[in-house]
Amino acid sequence: MIRFQAVDKHYGSFHVLKDIHLAVHQGEVVVVVGPSGSGKSTLLRCINRLETIASGELTVNEVRVNDKKTDINKLRRDIGMVFQHFNLYPHKKVIENITLAPIKVLGLSKQEAEETALFYLEKVGIRDKAGAYPAQLSGGQQQRVAIARGLAMKPKIMLFDEPTSALDPEMVGEVLDVMKTLAREGMTMVVVTHEMGFAREVADRVVFMDQGRILEEATPAEFFANPREERARAFLSRLI
Ligand code: ADP
Ligand code: MG
Repeated sequence: MIRFQAVDKHYGSFHVLKDIHLAVHQGEVVVVVGPSGSGKSTLLRCINRLETIASGELTVNEVRVNDKKTDINKLRRDIGMVFQHFNLYPHKKVIENITLAPIKVLGLSKQEAEETALFYLEKVGIRDKAGAYPAQLSGGQQQRVAIARGLAMKPKIMLFDEPTSALDPEMVGEVLDVMKTLAREGMTMVVVTHEMGFAREVADRVVFMDQGRILEEATPAEFFANPREERARAFLSRLI
């Protein structure tokens, strides 16, 4: 569903992605790990063209992301994204945060959009918060709203960029649980996270990035038991 072939990207003179090759198949969960500044967010943001690539080829469902002829709005409808900071509209109720895009972009009626929103709120375990404002929710609840908002667009792919990094520790589990459920249901997911327990348990593959390169790609069992790359080993030892 996602394929990077020899992708390079620069920020000015800074070479942020170097010769990236990566394929993500339908229903796979790929977890991207690596030190801060290694290019993980940039990699993710290229997939829905929040960033453009300099060279190489990047396709989503065989469609070239950076082709001028590509309908970028259509592409983005298929790709949900959840960030570290939830980016909910503070002056809108939870349910309005979720129905906004389905009404505007998918053309759903208000009633259809609300039914969909309630379905996904139920799924993330906070249907009772539909009428609340974001500030009345905990961080973990807000992040679950953000996930429900992504799902309400019925995406084919979900991208997660450190979705639990801004949360108090006691709220990390509830968000990871929602992500685990999604994974189990067959969602195609690319997840940047420092939660190695999640990677170990849920990932089909772990990708280790350092200084703009993918240095290692392995099953979690291989990666955690016996990382081939010295830098991956050093990274893991720092986490423990
Ligand atoms: P990670 O998510 O792994 O921490 P990022 O993809 O955010 O890494 O960033 C990789 C590198 O690119 C970092 O050194 C960062 O400072 C730099 N960078 C990120 N975004 C920009 C930008 N818009 N302009 C210039 N440099 C950037
Ligand atoms: Mg990042």
